[in-house]
Amino acid sequence: MFNSLSDSLENTFKKLRGHGKISEKNISDALREVRLSLLEADVEFSIAKDFINKVKEKALGETVMKSIKPGEQIVKIFHDELTELLGGDQVPLDLNPPARILMVGLNGAGKTTTSAKLAMRLKKEGRRPLLIACDLYRPAAIEQLGTLGAQIDVPVYKPDASETNLVKVAKDALKWAEDQNGTVLIFDTAGRQEIDEKLIEELKDLHKFLDPKETLLVADAATGQQAVSVANHFDEAVGITGIVLTKLDGDARGGAALSMRGVTGKPIKYIGEGEKLENFSEFHPERMAGRILD
Ligand code: GDP
Repeated sequence: MFNSLSDSLENTFKKLRGHGKISEKNISDALREVRLSLLEADVEFSIAKDFINKVKEKALGETVMKSIKPGEQIVKIFHDELTELLGGDQVPLDLNPPARILMVGLNGAGKTTTSAKLAMRLKKEGRRPLLIACDLYRPAAIEQLGTLGAQIDVPVYKPDASETNLVKVAKDALKWAEDQNGTVLIFDTAGRQEIDEKLIEELKDLHKFLDPKETLLVADAATGQQAVSVANHFDEAVGITGIVLTKLDGDARGGAALSMRGVTGKPIKYIGEGEKLENFSEFHPERMAGRILD
């Protein structure tokens, strides 16, 4: 991912590095190119604009133009601002007891897979995760979670097929969890093709009942700006604490990753980069900035 963005930035920076001395015009020209590259990568317009203004202010304000390697310095400013844009420091999960994580998002975004990926990761870290299937609309989703749980040897709570009351399911699951000796509960909820009011009302009730420390929005990076607006919607409805960006392996442009934090104010906490359960990692803004600029 970020392939074309990385390539076009590399071109711009190569030109900048070529200058022994650098003028204000060189900087403006370069930043105009960067702005276009960001927009081509589907970065939200105001985010791209603010970003360029910040880089410009620093590049013109500091001693860049008098330095021996001005191009290098601008690349450094760019790297630092990109890290900020992506969220600055890595934000860990709040796993203080009672650790409850509510997974929300649209259908197909990767919620069920991500729930299992997260469980596997937490297990590797020495915690005892439990998975709770809360999709009462698709029996297949309950089965899918059951299969994934068996693969990673994590207990899964599967509600009765006739159950329709989500809060009751959650209540029963909490009772079940007491006997399971788990330390982190991951609730995989139902999605929809698009946001609808009934889904949101049910989610609100579930959220109110569980009062989870973490509500993670699972969003498909390949859907670009749509992923960002979905995050805003879910945040308004239930208040998300973080984002898991999935399918970065299929996202050539990277606009969602770059705009998400700036638009929603919420941190990306994890990323999914493949269908396999191990294709999952913590999101580190600085490392991601490095990947874009390398
Ligand atoms: P849900 O409807 O939100 O629960 O989505 P699922 O977990 O069922 O995932 C939908 C599809 O996306 C499945 O085929 C997953 O294997 C796939 N998927 C999930 N995460 C990723 C990812 O990071 N990369 C890729 N390539 N596929 C993914």
